[in-house]
Amino acid sequence: MRTITRRRLIGLAAAAAAAAPGAWLLLERAPAQSGPPEIRYGRDRCDACGMLISDPRYAAAARRPDAALRYDDIACLVRGAGHAVASGVADGWVHDAATEAWVEAREAAYVRSPAIRTPMSSGLAAYATAAQALAAHPGATVFTFAALVGAPAAGPRG
Ligand SMILES: [Zn+2]
Repeated sequence: MRTITRRRLIGLAAAAAAAAPGAWLLLERAPAQSGPPEIRYGRDRCDACGMLISDPRYAAAARRPDAALRYDDIACLVRGAGHAVASGVADGWVHDAATEAWVEAREAAYVRSPAIRTPMSSGLAAYATAAQALAAHPGATVFTFAALVGAPAAGPRG
């Protein structure tokens, strides 16, 4: 439903732009069809577990040609779209737990610790680089996204 609405919005913006040159600004503000989807914290629900997404530090997202997906926990991204993202069929993003900036899921560095209290108790946090992950969690093992997807322990058992 959301995708249809966005397409309509873009269509409206394009029509407006054709009618008035100044309206090109509208086009630039139309919702992006690539990159991480907007997450409305406290309103959007996780596409894997159905929980409200409320903590940006651990929120994640994915985009397939036909759907934008939002997750409350990195483990839900792994469960919901892990193989698609790992294989390049879908794009995936996670937040750097320190800066809350989006990082491409396939390029992020991951740590897992019971001390990291995530919404689904996976204990998974992501960072832009392995060095930043180790700076935040000295001595931790740093995982790649492929390792997370391949590991059966991607759930809360850790
Ligand atoms: Zn979830």
